[in-house]
Amino acid sequence: MFVDSHYIRSFESNIVMIKELHEKLVNKEISAVALAEKYFAIIAEKDKNLNAYLTLTKELALAQARKVDEKIAAGEEIGILEGIPGAVKDNLCVAGVRATAGSKILDNYIAPYDAGVVTSLKEAGAVILGKVNMDEFAMGSSTEKSAYGATKNPVDLERVPGGSSGGSAAAVASGEAVWALGTDTGGSIRQPASFCGVVGLKPTYGRVSRYGAMAMASSLDQIGPITMNVEDAAIILGAISGESKMDGTSAKSPAKDYTQYLTGKVRGLRIGIVREYIDGLGEGPKKSILAVIETYKKLGAEIKEIELPYAKYALPVYYIIMPCEVSSNLARFDGIKYGMRAVDHVNSVLDFVPEDRNLIETYLDSRRFGLGAEVKRRIMLGTYALSSGYYDAYYLRAQKVRTLIKQDFEKAFAEVDLILTPTTPTPAFKIGEKTADPLEMYLADIFTITANIVGVPAISVPGPLVEVDGVPLPQGFQLMAKWFDEENLLRTAHAYEIADKA
Ligand code: GLN
Repeated sequence: MFVDSHYIRSFESNIVMIKELHEKLVNKEISAVALAEKYFAIIAEKDKNLNAYLTLTKELALAQARKVDEKIAAGEEIGILEGIPGAVKDNLCVAGVRATAGSKILDNYIAPYDAGVVTSLKEAGAVILGKVNMDEFAMGSSTEKSAYGATKNPVDLERVPGGSSGGSAAAVASGEAVWALGTDTGGSIRQPASFCGVVGLKPTYGRVSRYGAMAMASSLDQIGPITMNVEDAAIILGAISGESKMDGTSAKSPAKDYTQYLTGKVRGLRIGIVREYIDGLGEGPKKSILAVIETYKKLGAEIKEIELPYAKYALPVYYIIMPCEVSSNLARFDGIKYGMRAVDHVNSVLDFVPEDRNLIETYLDSRRFGLGAEVKRRIMLGTYALSSGYYDAYYLRAQKVRTLIKQDFEKAFAEVDLILTPTTPTPAFKIGEKTADPLEMYLADIFTITANIVGVPAISVPGPLVEVDGVPLPQGFQLMAKWFDEENLLRTAHAYEIADKA
């Protein structure tokens, strides 16, 4: 066991990372270049154990930092994110930088353009340290399904950091990055945030442009921040949100400064809880969430029991809709348009040289050698569910149940402003513990998937630690808010955080 001191420091004291560093830059206590160098030194030291980074973008980072230093030297004012170093999940494109999405099939793929969120962060002056590890094409809950090896949880190296944005969460929790971007299709930002003791925010579907994010399931995917605290998440969200012409599903709502809503005041806010979600928990996680509820009561929020009768179908509905969209989205990885082409690979692994491989064989071999087992499983499930004769029984029916779940939320939000649940049923599990049984792994997302199914914003915030075999481990709680009500979501999350650390 190895407990990272950065993590403990952050948990015990309310360090406001971005603002603190911003002041240091403004007061010339540190230069942006020195700050970036410092983070690269931390990465060099810690990432041998963690394997959070897949690619470092040192040249880009230092060029960005130099620009910030020039501005400061010229006496110009700098924005809150200028010079602040962070990491980008490897399924988000950064122009000229390798983007594998954790897959062998994209081993040699160099992104030709910046994702919308990357453009926004570059414009805000944030410094990009590198690309971070993930389950292949964001399919998984542990980051063990990366073609580039598992990432470890910085709190306990024998445990998984969660997934699929495990590299993002591990980088932030270990102090290898101030902020990180993740993607969340069924919980991939919130679940790793919960496992690593950091904050993870999935915005409302449509709040953040998905342009330049490698699509997993397009009706569920959202990009969001993983940070040390709620204020930092609010700052990053302010930078990456807003309408985008490059994403047809992006909402017509302008970016704004979300930090103005962090008042610490939740008096009178109505927070819904679902009794079965709490009763079904093991002892430790139950104690943790009950303590969170007590804190909110003390802060003057009104706790109300609510019912979400159809939400129990969210997981099965997800495992129909998601693979269907996956099977369609991943059809583009064929060895011709992107990345690895199997001809070279096949020649190197077979003891005969296949002659005259035709187009179809090239497609098949590229996918056979380039894609991992979990990805293939989902492509097959999705293709089956969409095939003629089965479409009505599976996909169409799942979409109908999705509507029923959405109606559950509409009804609930007529009575309450927010819904509070655990983020995960348990703290981080051990590496290898759930790899044998995919269904076991899928259950790790039981509380997070619903927010993607209905599209509401949701955040995971570190709650009281949970002891497992005598070791205190992080355990997050989740808040969900109404569609586009990131204001109350962040306000409520932040109020707990400052009450908890006061
Ligand atoms: N763990 C879930 C899955 O495996 C969610 C993944 C995600 O949110 N990208 O599909």
